[in-house]
Amino acid sequence: MKRQLTCIICPRGCALEATVQDGQVTVTGNACQRGAEYAVSECLHPVRTVTTIVKVANRENTMVSVKTETPVPKESMAEVVAALRKLSVAAPVAVGDVIAENVCGSRIVATKDIT
Ligand code: SF4
Repeated sequence: MKRQLTCIICPRGCALEATVQDGQVTVTGNACQRGAEYAVSECLHPVRTVTTIVKVANRENTMVSVKTETPVPKESMAEVVAALRKLSVAAPVAVGDVIAENVCGSRIVATKDIT
C-alpha cells in the first residue's frame, strides 16, 4: 500500500511517499531522517498532541487552554477530549501546571495563565 503524506515536522513540508509492505515502511521524498521517522510513525502507529480547553470553576465564563504533554494514539483523541470536558480546575493556573495525571497515557498541562 502506498500513502502520500506531507511531513509536518518542519516548515519545509516535504511531500513523502510511504510504501507499507509486510509491516515494513519504505519512505521517499524526505529531505532528512526525521521525515522518514514521521512517515513510519504515521503509517504504523499515528499519534497526535491534543489541544483543548478545560473549565475554570471559580471564574465566571472562563476556560483554560490545555494540551497533552506527550502525543497520544490518534484513535484516542476523542476519548481525551471527552475526559477533559468533564473536568474543571480552580484558578490560579500557570502555564505548565498539570491538570490531570493520566489521560490516555499522557499528563494534561495548562498552556495559559489564569490569575
Ligand atoms: S523531511 Fe525533514 S526537511 Fe522535510 S519537512 Fe520533514 S523534517 Fe523538514
